Amino acid sequence: KAAKFPGHKTLEEFNFDHQPAADRSLIAHLGTGLFLEEAKNVVLLGPPGTGKTHLAVGIATRAAHSGHRVLFDSATGWVARLAQAHNRGQLAAELAKLRRYKLLIIDEVGYIPFDQDSANLFFQLVSSRYERASLILTSNLAFSRWADVFGDATIASAMIDRIIHHAEVINLTGNSYRLQGRLKPQTMA
Ligand code: ADP
Ligand code: MG
Repeated sequence: KAAKFPGHKTLEEFNFDHQPAADRSLIAHLGTGLFLEEAKNVVLLGPPGTGKTHLAVGIATRAAHSGHRVLFDSATGWVARLAQAHNRGQLAAELAKLRRYKLLIIDEVGYIPFDQDSANLFFQLVSSRYERASLILTSNLAFSRWADVFGDATIASAMIDRIIHHAEVINLTGNSYRLQGRLKPQTMA
């Protein structure tokens, strides 16, 4: 698939009754893709299995259907791609090429901490898109914990500042949808 989505997920399949923290009208608005015209970002935060990737892919699928260029990868995937470009002396060109994509999805910020070089590359990706092109980011960690991910409170706050200046931040809550019906509470006879 061109956009490299990890699986086929649509907004229609999303069960809002199970995730009351996701506002239907806000998600529907994001599904129109209007936020892309303003280079706004979307940040989906919450514990594993709460629907972050599903909503990210659902919104991005709508954008792709509207004809926008969209690319999906994990945070570590993006950093690996930028590190390769950097090693070839092509970082600026790669960032410029990526800016021709109206939307990048950066999935799973925070699962794997970054070393300093990776943190710098990630920061450059965020700054290169600031007020120019949109990002959807997902993370299992609140912003207050991002300093641990990037190993540096200064770079983390400079990055968060740029991300959230024009953004919808959605805090998903609850238990993992993956475990639903599999981990039934034990009942005593
Ligand atoms: P996260 O990225 O937050 O860890 P995912 O979005 O990957 O979680 O969701 C885990 C699985 O549960 C996926 O198969 C997803 O489609 C499904 N899922 C999660 N929340 C919902 C929901 N509210 N309605 C329908 N499916 C959901
Ligand atoms: Mg996910």
